[in-house]
Amino acid sequence: MTLKLPIYMDNHATTRVDPRVLEAMLPYFTEHFGNAASRTHRFGWEAEAAVDDARDTIAQFIGAGSGKEIVFTSGATESDNLAIKGVAEYYRSKGNHIVTTTIEHKAVLDSCKRLEKQGFDVTYVPAGADGVVSPQSIADALTDKTILVSVMLANNEVGTIQPIAEIGAITRARGVLLHTDAVQGIGKTPFDVEAMNVDLASLTAHKIYGPKGVGALYVRRSKPRVRLTAQMDGGGHERGNRSGTLNVPGIVGFAKACQLLAQDGVEENARIAGLRNRLYERLTSELDEVVLNGSWERRLAGNLNVSFAFVEGEALMMAIKDVAVSSGSACTSASLEPSYVLHSMGLDEDLAHSSIRFGIGRFNTEEEVDFVANLVIDKVRKLRAMSPLYEMHQEGIDLKSIQWAAH
Ligand SMILES: *Cc1c(COP(=O)(O)O)cnc(C)c1O
Repeated sequence: MTLKLPIYMDNHATTRVDPRVLEAMLPYFTEHFGNAASRTHRFGWEAEAAVDDARDTIAQFIGAGSGKEIVFTSGATESDNLAIKGVAEYYRSKGNHIVTTTIEHKAVLDSCKRLEKQGFDVTYVPAGADGVVSPQSIADALTDKTILVSVMLANNEVGTIQPIAEIGAITRARGVLLHTDAVQGIGKTPFDVEAMNVDLASLTAHKIYGPKGVGALYVRRSKPRVRLTAQMDGGGHERGNRSGTLNVPGIVGFAKACQLLAQDGVEENARIAGLRNRLYERLTSELDEVVLNGSWERRLAGNLNVSFAFVEGEALMMAIKDVAVSSGSACTSASLEPSYVLHSMGLDEDLAHSSIRFGIGRFNTEEEVDFVANLVIDKVRKLRAMSPLYEMHQEGIDLKSIQWAAH
């Protein structure tokens, strides 16, 4: 079999729509095209029934008691905004303090930044060097003004799985609401809003082989009943939580994507972990100075985030153009700042600039992994051969001890 290039290994950024998801969606574009809010005819009823089925499927997938707890949105960025700003606004009279972490997605961090401008206090709890937030550090950050804690289920850069159940036990005991950005974790690590005492959870379809532009916010309806201030004014859709005509085909696809993971997720994750381990094994056995970023044990199956010391991540990505991956040295953004996640884990700047994130997913094969491993090993060797620092390192010179003339 010949390999098809380029190879996609950036499944934390987005995923290919599964053909079974697409097939489930198609009738809702042309045949059952009704507006789910049309109450006066069959077109509307059909659309509404499909949406309600999807609500139930998604609710069940995350252990929620009822489909009524699912608020559809345009994606997890919107869900994060709605959860954090919506809770902050509604509960402002109760307190003005929010606790989150330094490794959250920008949708959470920037929502918190906005609230700080409006007079809220936000505590940003750092993760440990292993990219895992300690429940105790969350407990220590709580005050009698805290109304909300927001900690992600799994990190999108280093794939570390956060102790949400332990944090949920703490927030529940203290009467503080818990939001989790569950985007990267659902279907990949156990997640149950009941068992974990989660009150709000952000989800998106396109990270789990569903379509882009559709997501959901789980909002607990009892014990406790969570209230939100809507961020979008309009027709009062989604029980007043999010106005706007629903993306019916997208919602149907989202539910299908959840159903496939509920059905095959365990097996799939084992297969993906096998591929990830194979890649790591090859890279570390044939190259020296490969540094794993983030905990190995508490990690998503498809995530491998490593720094190839003495090699610029950007340069390596250019050298492996046939492979789609991400680097911790964000030249995608205007800045040349390395990843704030790696930085907050205490990784030194050079190693952060040398990091590459491989995101293995459903459609990757062993053949692709072997191709990628061979290519990366070859290119890292070539780039290092041009590096005076690597040469000095090989000669046993301790680079940290050198006094550089200018820095
Ligand atoms: C991708 C991602 C988001 C944003 O989701 P969109 O649906 O693309 O808006 C939020 N949080 C995490 C952890 C993500 O990986």
